[in-house]
Amino acid sequence: MQPELENKEKVLKILRSNQNGLSEEEAGRRLRRYGPNTLPQKKRSTYFSIFIRQFKSSLVYVLVVAMSVSIFMEEYDDAAIIGFILFLNAIIGFWQEARADTTLSKLEKVLPQHALIKRNGEIRTILGEEIVPGDIILLREGDRVIADARIIVSYDLEIDESLLTGESKTVKKNARSLPKKMREGTPDNMVFAGSVVVYGSAEAVATSTGAHTRFSNIAKSILNTEERKTPLQARITSLSNKLTFIILIVALFVFFAGTIRGYAFIDMFTTAVALAVAALPEGLLIAITVILVIGMRRILERKALVRELLAAETLGSVSVICVDKTGTLTEGSMKVEKLITPEETYLVGKTLPRESSAVQKLVDIAIFSNEAVLERGSHAEEQWKLNGRPTDRSLLSLAIDLGRDIIRERNEKTRLAVLPFNSNRKYMMSIVASGGKDVATLFAKGAPEILLDFCRYKHVHGGIEPLTENEKNLFLKNAERLSKDGYRIVAGGYKEIPKLTRVSAPLERYVRDLVFAGFYVIADPVRPQVKDTIKATARAGITTVMITGDHKETATRIAHDIGLLKKKSTVVTGAELINMTDNELFRRISSISVFARVTPEDKLRIIEAWQKRGEVVAMTGDGVNDTPALVKADIGIAVGSGTEVAKSASDIVLIDNNFTTIVAAIEEGRAIFANVKKVTLMLMSNAFSEVLIVTAGLAFNLPLPLLAVQILWVNLITDGLPAIALTMEPKEKNLLLENPVPRSSPIIDKPAQVFIVLSSIVASLVVMLGFYIKYIYSGNADDARTLAFALLGIITLALVLSIRDLSSPFIKKGIGGNPWLFAALGVGIILQIAALTIPPLRSILTLSPLGALDGIMIISFTLTCLFIIESAKILFIRKIH
Ligand code: ADP
Ligand code: MG
Repeated sequence: MQPELENKEKVLKILRSNQNGLSEEEAGRRLRRYGPNTLPQKKRSTYFSIFIRQFKSSLVYVLVVAMSVSIFMEEYDDAAIIGFILFLNAIIGFWQEARADTTLSKLEKVLPQHALIKRNGEIRTILGEEIVPGDIILLREGDRVIADARIIVSYDLEIDESLLTGESKTVKKNARSLPKKMREGTPDNMVFAGSVVVYGSAEAVATSTGAHTRFSNIAKSILNTEERKTPLQARITSLSNKLTFIILIVALFVFFAGTIRGYAFIDMFTTAVALAVAALPEGLLIAITVILVIGMRRILERKALVRELLAAETLGSVSVICVDKTGTLTEGSMKVEKLITPEETYLVGKTLPRESSAVQKLVDIAIFSNEAVLERGSHAEEQWKLNGRPTDRSLLSLAIDLGRDIIRERNEKTRLAVLPFNSNRKYMMSIVASGGKDVATLFAKGAPEILLDFCRYKHVHGGIEPLTENEKNLFLKNAERLSKDGYRIVAGGYKEIPKLTRVSAPLERYVRDLVFAGFYVIADPVRPQVKDTIKATARAGITTVMITGDHKETATRIAHDIGLLKKKSTVVTGAELINMTDNELFRRISSISVFARVTPEDKLRIIEAWQKRGEVVAMTGDGVNDTPALVKADIGIAVGSGTEVAKSASDIVLIDNNFTTIVAAIEEGRAIFANVKKVTLMLMSNAFSEVLIVTAGLAFNLPLPLLAVQILWVNLITDGLPAIALTMEPKEKNLLLENPVPRSSPIIDKPAQVFIVLSSIVASLVVMLGFYIKYIYSGNADDARTLAFALLGIITLALVLSIRDLSSPFIKKGIGGNPWLFAALGVGIILQIAALTIPPLRSILTLSPLGALDGIMIISFTLTCLFIIESAKILFIRKIH
C-alpha cells in the first residue's frame, strides 16, 4: 500500500484500524507479529573490542620491547614479571573502560520515549516501542514522531524533517490525499519517524514501525559518528602527551648516562624501561573518563540526567543559572482558586453557583480552549489522569470538579480548528462546531492584557453587553492586584460564529470582537526548598536569574518570596527588553534578577549578555521555541515534563523539574573536577618520585637504588588500585561554599605543582637516605635495594592520604568516606609485605630478608616523611592560590 496516495478512510481500512484506534488485544497481537518499534541504537563497544583496545598504547609497546629484550638476554624472571604487568595492566584498563561503558549505556536508557495514542477510543501514554501499525498517534507541538504515519486529522501542522531530508525549513502537513504519485521528497500527508512537530497538532495512523521506517536506514549513519573528546579529556590527553615525551627523554638519558658510567647494559636497559612504564600517565585518561561517568551516575541519583559527558564537566563551572519560574521554582501543580466574572468573584470550592451563566461560560472555555487531555492511567489504581501543560490541567480539573463529563462533551462536538498556546503568543483558541449546521463557537484564553485586547463585549446577566475601554482598564487593574499576591491570571473569552462553512488560515484573524467571560485566578505555590537553595547558590558564587512569561507583578512577588530580589536587583519586562540595545543589556544584566513577560527568543539575548561577561550560563527550557536557547547556553537544561524536542536539544534533563536539583548537579560537577585533580596529582607525584630516585642513584654513582622489576611492582600497587579508588572519592562538604572553578582553570594548579615538587623531593630523599645507610652498613646492594623498595612502596601509599586533600591535614579525614581507598591501600600494604616475606616472590624481585631493625627504620622514616609533607601542606601549600 502507498498510504500517501489513498484517502484516509481507505488507509484506515487497509490497516484494519479506525478513528478510535485499535483494541488492546489487537495491538498486543500486532506487537508480537511486527516486533517492537525500536530504531537502530548507537553501536556500543563489545567487551572483546574494549579488551583489544587495551593493547593499543605506547605503554604496551614499551613493555613488549622490554619483554623481548629480556627473553633475548635470557633474563626469564624479568620477562615473566613484565608479562605479568602487561596482563594486569590490560585487566585494570579493561575493567575501568567496560565499567564506564556499561554505565553510559544504562544512562542512555533512563528516559525512554513515550507516545500519546488512542486505543479503544481512549487516550493513553505508552512507550514508543509499543507502537504498532494501525495505532492512532496524537501529535502535539514539541513531540518527536516515532513511527511513519499517515495524517488523518491536523490543525496547522508544521513538521521539521531536517533529520531525514537535510532541509531545515519546516514543512506544512495535512490529511489530504495526494492526486498522483510522488517521486521525490516526503509526502505532505505523512509524518516520518525522526521528524519533529514544531507547530500545531494532529492525529495520524501508524503505517510502519521500527526497522521499516524511513529513518531506520538513515539512523545507522547518523548515530555512529565518532565521539569527540570533551575539553577536559583533551586537556588530559595533551598533558599526558607532554609528560610521555619528557619521560621518554628522561628514560633515554638514564639509559645512556648509566651505560657510560659503567652500569651493566641489561640493567640500565630494563631500568630505563621500567622507569618509563612507571612514570607514563597511561591510566590517567581512562581514570578521567571513569570519574565523569561516575559523576553522571551520581547526578542521576539526585534526579538529573546528564546527556553528554561534556556537560558533566562544564556543570562545575556554571556561574549563572537562568531558570523558568513556572514549574521549576514553583511546584507547577496549579490550582484554580478563584473565578472572576465581569460581575462577581467566586471562591472555587465554596460559593460557586453552577447555574451562573458566566461561570458556565468560563468552564466551557476551560474545556474547549484547552490542549490537555484526560488519559487512561497506566496502573489500575490510577484510573484517569490529566496530560498537558499545568495551566491547562488546572482548568480541566476545575471542570471535572464541577461535575462536567469532559470526554463525552468533547466527543460530541467536532473541533474545527485549534490555535495552540505558546509563550510568544500568550493565548490560545479553538473553534468548535456547536449543535446546528454551520454554527460554531470560538473559545479563547490567555494573558489578561492580550485577551482583553481582543474583546469588545462582556458576558453579564446571562447576556452580552458592550465593553468600554474604561471597564477593560478596571478589569486589568483587578488582575494586576491579584498578580501581586503571586497568582497567575488567565482571561477567558468566546464568540459565536453563525455562518462558518469552512475555517481557513490564518487562524489569528478569527480572534477579535470576543465576549469577555472573566478571569481564572490560579495558584502555583513555590517549591519548599527553593528559598534555601537560592541562599546556597549565592554562597557558591552563582547568580540565579528568574525568567517567566508571567506578569511582572506575579514574578516580582514570587521572586521576593524566594529571596531572589536583593536591594539593587531589578525586574525587567519583555517590552522593556525590546527597547534595550545589546550594549545596554550587557551593562545592566548583572543587576537584573527577574525577566517577566518575556518570550523564549529573549532568552537568547539574556544568555549572550551573560556570556559576553565571561560567565558560564545554565538555562532551563521546555518548549520548541526554547531550543535555540538550550543550544546556546553552556548547559541547556530541559525539564522532565518538557517536550521531546527540548530534551534532545539539552545537555541535562531535570527529571523532577526542580530548581534544587540543578544546584545539586552543579555540586556534583564540582566534585568531578576535584576528583580529576586528585587522580592527576597522585599519578604525577608518584612518577616524579620514581624518576628522582633512579636519577639520584646515577648521580651519586651508587648502585641502582631500584631494579626494573622492583619499580614495576611498586608502580603497580601504588598507581593501579589507588587510582581506581580515587575515582570513587565522595564529594567534599564545602563544594558549595566556594566560587565556581573557571573552565580554563588548570588541572594541576599552583598548590598541586608545589606539592608535586615538594613531595617527590622529600620522598626520594628519605628513600635514598634509607638506601644509603643500609648500603654503608651491609655493603650489599641487594640488601640496600630491598630497604629502598620497602620504603618507596609504603611511603607512596601513605602519601595518597596526603594527596586527597591539599587544604587540610589528612588526620582529619583519614580514610573516611571512601572504603575503596581503604581497600586499595590495604591491598597495597599486604602485597608489599608479601613481596618482602614470601620467599619465591622475594627471589623473583631480587629482594633479601629484612630484620626487625629494618622494620623500625621503615616505619619511622615513613612517619617522618609524612610529617614533613603534611606540615608543609598545612603551613605553606594551602595558603597558595
Ligand atoms: P511561564 O514562563 O511562567 O510558564 P507562560 O509563557 O507559559 O509563562 O505564560 C504567560 C502567560 O500566558 C501567563 O501569565 C498566563 O496568563 C497565560 N497562559 C499561560 N498558560 C496558558 C495556557 N495554557 N492557555 C492560555 N493562557 C495561558
Ligand atoms: Mg509555561
